[in-house]
Amino acid sequence: MISYQLRQRDYLLQISRAMTARLDLPSLLRLILTSAAEIVRAEAGLIALRSGQSQTLAIQASYGIPVATLPRFAPLLTDFPLRAAEYALPDLEFRLNLVARAIRLPLEQAVALPLTFAESPERGENRLLGVIYLFRSGALAFTANDEAILASFADQAAIAVRNAQLYQQVSAEKQQLDAIIEHSADGVMILDPDRRVQVFNAALSRMTGWPAEQALGRPCHQVLALEDASGPDLCSAATSEVAFADGEPLVVEGMLNRPGGSRLAVSVTYSPLYDEEGRLAQIIVNVVDITRFREAEELKSTFVSVVSHELKTPVSLIKGYAATLAREDAHWDAATVRESLQIISEESDRLNALINNLLDASRIQGGAFKLERGDVALARLAEVVVEAFRTQTTKHRFILDFPQEFPTVTGDEERLRQVLNNLLNNAIKYSPAGGEIRVGGWSDAASATVYVADQGIGIPREEQGKLFQRFYRVDSSLRRTTQGAGLGLYLCKSIVEAHGGRIWLRSEPGKGTTVFFSLPVEDERRRTNDER
Ligand code: ATP
Ligand code: MG
Repeated sequence: MISYQLRQRDYLLQISRAMTARLDLPSLLRLILTSAAEIVRAEAGLIALRSGQSQTLAIQASYGIPVATLPRFAPLLTDFPLRAAEYALPDLEFRLNLVARAIRLPLEQAVALPLTFAESPERGENRLLGVIYLFRSGALAFTANDEAILASFADQAAIAVRNAQLYQQVSAEKQQLDAIIEHSADGVMILDPDRRVQVFNAALSRMTGWPAEQALGRPCHQVLALEDASGPDLCSAATSEVAFADGEPLVVEGMLNRPGGSRLAVSVTYSPLYDEEGRLAQIIVNVVDITRFREAEELKSTFVSVVSHELKTPVSLIKGYAATLAREDAHWDAATVRESLQIISEESDRLNALINNLLDASRIQGGAFKLERGDVALARLAEVVVEAFRTQTTKHRFILDFPQEFPTVTGDEERLRQVLNNLLNNAIKYSPAGGEIRVGGWSDAASATVYVADQGIGIPREEQGKLFQRFYRVDSSLRRTTQGAGLGLYLCKSIVEAHGGRIWLRSEPGKGTTVFFSLPVEDERRRTNDER
């Protein structure tokens, strides 16, 4: 008997070592249950744990019991107090009988081991985590020694369960945090005190073009190289002297070069994290794309200067002529009056056109830009527009060059007229010496292309890509003498793209410019099918 007890104690020691090494809760519970059953040679058993503050326990592991019968053990799992001190199931035998009869298994002997842990040791309060039940059939009752050895086993098991639960909780929280960082819309990275990357999220990969697995371990100046930085840039290679003052975050703005050659304006915040001894442990880096914000700022100031400059000229002309005509001491002949009124009228038109362009530009920006679609005969439309321009200039020769069969497109006639107006207006404005202005086109099965070609001053190569941006004007002596808000081509591009088309240009400085736009042509066959 003595040696049996010794063996039991030895075994107990081995098991408690194995238990404390295990953090995966399901496998730990299986280990606890089978070990407990072996120690006292029980035939069956189960472990039930509490979740939250519930008074009912849920079975987490079982041994020697058909799984289908597990719900029948409910009587043994209800009415559990929260605190271990209140734990007692005086009617255990009665409950066991209920269960045994329900599942038709001879479970005559049972022992219940509460799993407790010290919630606040100083007050001696023990919390009830759950319970281990062990069952035997037959008359062989659990002895006092069995119960004593199981009790100390249960204490070990409770600690292991508690650890595994805490571990589970911590890893769940860590997963949550990782997910938050990974899916944050802003770029996030975490650096060690030597400014090497420890964590690099998806948004930052998109911003910088660095895949996370390549960024990890690198010094941060490699993956986040700011140019034109304004402020203390912790990551730039030379600034080892940049330090945190009183744990305050550092904020820097700058430009980030991206793989495709584009640039991104970003605001970077470095926040220090300290360990218990006050040493720098980690640096949290938050990277926000402020390109749009910067663009909006720039646009606002350009808008104000363009509008004030462009509105001033017609307004002062109108004001000047109107004031002159209104003078009471002067008597104007009919021709002067007509000429002055003519100028007032033209300048009002110009003012009107500018205001319309500004309104359209802001509508496009605000997304409130709608097309009223219908059938548009582009060649005919071009003819009408060119006719109107013929009367405005004597220096230019207009040539229409469309093939006989030029397709009709589905589109907004007024908007497309606006495109042609703007292109012809530019062609005249930017060929001050006159010349030929050719408007023509060609088509294939999928699209119709229209061009406006002039023999004017042309556009320097490096400027050609930028002309379609809002308020962009090429800086030249002509720019200073011609009027324009730099909106024409931006509107043309927006309109053409809203039609599903595209716009581009070819230009040679000193020789001339051709602007092309192509619009999709609906396939006749498909169209008739759709209409059927
Ligand atoms: P707005 O059209 O708003 O009155 P704008 O003519 O200056 O002003 P855009 O039509 O957008 O603006 O053209 C932008 C710039 O592109 C012009 O300022 C000019 O420098 C250049 N540009 C456009 N068309 C031509 C052209 N046909 N030849 C030479 N330069 C051109
Ligand atoms: Mg223009």
